[in-house]
Amino acid sequence: MEPPDIERLDERTVQRIAAGEVVERPASVVKELIENSLDAGASRVAVSVEAGGTEGIRVRDDGVGIPADQLEAAVAEHATSKIGDIEDLDRGVATLGFRGEALYTVGAVSRLTVRSRPPDADAGAEITVDGGNVGDVRPAGCPEGTTVEVEDLFYNTPAREKFLKRTATEFDRVNAVVTGYALANPGVAVSLEHDGRETFATEGNGDLRSAVLAVYGREVAESMIDVEWTPAGDGAGADGAAGDSAEADAPVGRVAGLVSHPETTRSTRDYLSTYVNGRYVTASALREATLNAYGGQLAPDRYPFAVLFVEVPSGDVDVNVHPRKLEVRFDEESAVRSAVETAVEDALLDHGLIRSTAPRG
Ligand code: ADP
Ligand code: MG
Repeated sequence: MEPPDIERLDERTVQRIAAGEVVERPASVVKELIENSLDAGASRVAVSVEAGGTEGIRVRDDGVGIPADQLEAAVAEHATSKIGDIEDLDRGVATLGFRGEALYTVGAVSRLTVRSRPPDADAGAEITVDGGNVGDVRPAGCPEGTTVEVEDLFYNTPAREKFLKRTATEFDRVNAVVTGYALANPGVAVSLEHDGRETFATEGNGDLRSAVLAVYGREVAESMIDVEWTPAGDGAGADGAAGDSAEADAPVGRVAGLVSHPETTRSTRDYLSTYVNGRYVTASALREATLNAYGGQLAPDRYPFAVLFVEVPSGDVDVNVHPRKLEVRFDEESAVRSAVETAVEDALLDHGLIRSTAPRG
């Protein structure tokens, strides 16, 4: 057999392959758009999807907006208002996005419209990208803030389109993402609509329990107990060494949030939401530590609800291991595990929901 020629892929093909890495499915698009809205300082984020997001996704916010003369840049490759250079990246990024690739890649694999009006502008404007073809900026009537619409995701990438699951499954994932951000940001009114029907809407009043009530309903909200743990509170009595400096050096600064009564459970782990330094993450270490804290109090194959915020020094966590930035890696994984387990255990013990085990070291 003759060796085949090696040829450089054309730009459009490269663009679509790269897009598949960032936007895998409707839920990943929704994640990127919500993050943009939060980065824009929105106090309301309204998400609405059709057919699980495969036919349409719309995210509307009341954030700072995008001036008309910046719309083209917003949908361009590697264009971001969030970092200037590699030094900014090394200093640590406060915003959720920074790669400047989300709108660009979504525009490559769908029909994307970005419509925006900054609060001080008298008129709005919009730009459309259709399968990577960027249209002209046009005037558009719109409220203050930004609306991003994505239609026919993957219509020009049939291989990716085939990979999508049933509408209901895609919607479940969208729901999980929107729920994740709604709970992480109780001060933002987040709503979700599927095929014209409201799934949930949080009030945005800053209260975590009220956000849980909106998302999971009254029974779950009422079963939730408070978790609040800091290293000073934990070790002070035992060794008397906990002070400001010990706390500043601690591998875990704080674990806080809500966990459910051991009898308020579901059959999947999907209701264990974890956040590291305010970012919604999937970290099996955090889930396992939470479950361990329940000891033998959970029925077989039943999982509790949890909304847990873990704070670690920003240098100790790598949130950048994947472009989708969901999985995290900890430098001090065992310390993080034990802090989370202790935090949840203490809360459950306080409420007499588990029995005290051997003293912890
Ligand atoms: P990134 O978020 O990594 O900067 P994106 O492609 O997601 O990259 O967005 C590109 C730029 O478009 C952002 O840096 C921001 O300036 C602007 N932008 C995107 N979405 C919004 C929004 N909802 N409100 C205000 N500005 C936005
Ligand atoms: Mg972004």
